[in-house]
Amino acid sequence: MTDFTSATDADGIATITWDVPGKSMNVLSLTGMAELDALIDAALADPAVRGVILTSGKKDFAGGMDLNVIAKMKESAGAEPARGLFDGIMRFHGLERKIELAGMDPKTKKGGKPIVAALPGTALGIGLEIPLSCHRIIAADNPTARIGLPEILVGIFPGAGGTTRLVRKLGPMAASPFLLEGKLSDPKKAQAAGIIDEVVAPDQLLARAREWVLGATDADLVKPWDAKGYKMPGGAPYHPAGFMTFVGASAMVMGKTMGVYPAARALLSAVYEGALVPFDTALRIEARWFTHVLMNPSSAAMIRSLFINKEALEKGANRPGVADQTVRRLGVLGAGMMGAGIAHVAASAGIEVVLIDATQEAADRGKAHSEGLLDKGMKRGKVTAAKKAEVLARITATADYAALSGADLVVEAVFEDPRVKAEVTARAEAVLPADAIFATNTSTLPITGLAKASTRPDRFIGIHFFSPVDKMMLVEIIKGVETGDLAVAKALDFVRQIRKTPIVVNDARFFYANRCIIPYINEGIRMVAEGVEPALVENAAKLVGLPLGPLQLVDETSIDLGVKIARATKAAMGDAYPDSAVDQVLFAMADAGRLGRKAHAGFYAYDDKGQRTGLWEGIADHWPVAADQPDLAEVQHRMLFVQALEAVRALEEGVLTDIREGDVGAILGWGFCPWSGGPFSWLDMLGAPRAVEIADRLAAAHGARFAAPRLLREMAERGESFYGRFAPDARAA
Ligand code: NAD
Repeated sequence: MTDFTSATDADGIATITWDVPGKSMNVLSLTGMAELDALIDAALADPAVRGVILTSGKKDFAGGMDLNVIAKMKESAGAEPARGLFDGIMRFHGLERKIELAGMDPKTKKGGKPIVAALPGTALGIGLEIPLSCHRIIAADNPTARIGLPEILVGIFPGAGGTTRLVRKLGPMAASPFLLEGKLSDPKKAQAAGIIDEVVAPDQLLARAREWVLGATDADLVKPWDAKGYKMPGGAPYHPAGFMTFVGASAMVMGKTMGVYPAARALLSAVYEGALVPFDTALRIEARWFTHVLMNPSSAAMIRSLFINKEALEKGANRPGVADQTVRRLGVLGAGMMGAGIAHVAASAGIEVVLIDATQEAADRGKAHSEGLLDKGMKRGKVTAAKKAEVLARITATADYAALSGADLVVEAVFEDPRVKAEVTARAEAVLPADAIFATNTSTLPITGLAKASTRPDRFIGIHFFSPVDKMMLVEIIKGVETGDLAVAKALDFVRQIRKTPIVVNDARFFYANRCIIPYINEGIRMVAEGVEPALVENAAKLVGLPLGPLQLVDETSIDLGVKIARATKAAMGDAYPDSAVDQVLFAMADAGRLGRKAHAGFYAYDDKGQRTGLWEGIADHWPVAADQPDLAEVQHRMLFVQALEAVRALEEGVLTDIREGDVGAILGWGFCPWSGGPFSWLDMLGAPRAVEIADRLAAAHGARFAAPRLLREMAERGESFYGRFAPDARAA
């Protein structure tokens, strides 16, 4: 069984078909590459072959590279992993360059054999880089196919010639959304952008490819960059227009990434330096920068969390082994901000939804939220009128609990008040089928406590969404003490249906995400109380790759919510409550009516439209700025450690049972420095001994909240890492 096969017909057209056995999507492995290389050699050498069609035996062309290839290339070079990577990457370049030059005479550029890529569907990553080296790319008109180079999203960049070829094909400006943002397009849009050359009816794909091969002339085979007098579209760096592009791109990338993503910087360098030299030298430069990125621990951690582990969680890595629990009819209680969002994502995924609120008007308002989102989607050309009608038809808005009678899952999103929640739980269970699962979207109330209102606590579970529901990709599933496997499987199957990423945690105060987010916000507020310049706090957070500074974050989630949570936490913890210094600031802000963005007044000032205009100048009147300011690294360490140590405690206490969930959840749930791969990956990068040293120093200076957890200390003593000790394969070994 091989990944690539070739068959030559009577006209001398060799069709090389990519069809990896036993997989639904083609991915390129090292053996696959060797097979393709040998088949191209054979086709070029065989006088009976006049041209080649490269296509796929599956509905899609290819999903990209098998990311284990990177590890293999590193290992193969023993003590010189960078050498192994560079040599491995240059072998990819060698194969693609062979396809591109196709045996033509180097001087006259004549006598080459036409090679066409025929893409039946999706072509991503190296699945597009190989076609870019072919002489023509023809795609089937398949609107659900995705064409593009998404590497940057997992911390690398297109490093098998895709960067150099796309920039030379489209020009640096036009190529930038595809390279720097990983933008994907359907075939028609990819054609309009100039990435692919032709789109044809799916049943015409191979016929058209044959026709092109049979009609191709020598000139059709010469890539623009191999022809005399080639000029880069839009201008190379020392062309006046090109100069502006390059200066602008640099500023834009630094502005967006704050310089913490090695891949974005390396990509820009490869593009800039590559633009100044001949094509083959540009490929070598691309390979060097790609090696540089692959050697950076950040890219390895990002690939692990954002690609491998995220996918494993989505595929049910922690799902109990019970039968399929696909949701058919969902009940949503409370049609407020969260309930309306949950109803919308479920209906969009094809699930029938009953959306209930206390009054018909409130329920209708919740459904109108969905209509608003669909209208926005239509304006952007992402939603058709038919899709809008379909989604809305799936949502029944009502105040009548009897409508829940056929639901197999209910998600409750009423007010954050245990009494209200208990009341709706009882009302729903009175009409629900006996085997239905009841879930609560509470953000702060323990699940085990809420389950007391249920007559079937084994079927009671937490399904915690993040706001805004339609955008946030994480869903935190929380098991109460009595929650059973069926409920967990139901929650996981529901999350799979709505195409989000689940983590499964045990019940404890604030579960996992809020347990880490709240100390982060509090640390920012605490610094304000200490007289640290608020701008230093906010910028330090952004400069280390956190999406929002803590003061902006609390403005977004609202100061009064912070006050409410503080009061409830204090009541529950009594004398052990550690955050009085934070509360003084929060309560003073609330008393002054500065409730955050919704009040157009918070730690930030806002204009009439609610746009932030800068930090509120009055902060200094309440909490004067100290003469001595901490340095940037100190502020950053405080904000990162207060989160990462909390994540370690969550693991130590058994709230988290899988560090992969801790890392993926932190990135998707609250944007914890994606460049780091998550808090556990970050602590592994620092190494446990250094992490303990920093924690000890912070604890001495700022208090016990920075005390290193016992687990971390033990790991430092034993020289262990989190992934070494807790990764699923490490545990199995
Ligand atoms: P919200 O105030 O916008 O919505 C609550 C809705 O519940 C209102 O429409 C209200 O009319 C309705 N409701 C109240 N009593 C009811 C009853 N007896 N029967 C039916 N409907 C009733 O609140 P929200 O922000 O959507 O939050 C809802 C839940 O989600 C809370 O438990 C909250 O903690 C949790 N949550 C909120 C967020 C967030 O960012 N807002 C995030 C995660 C979880």
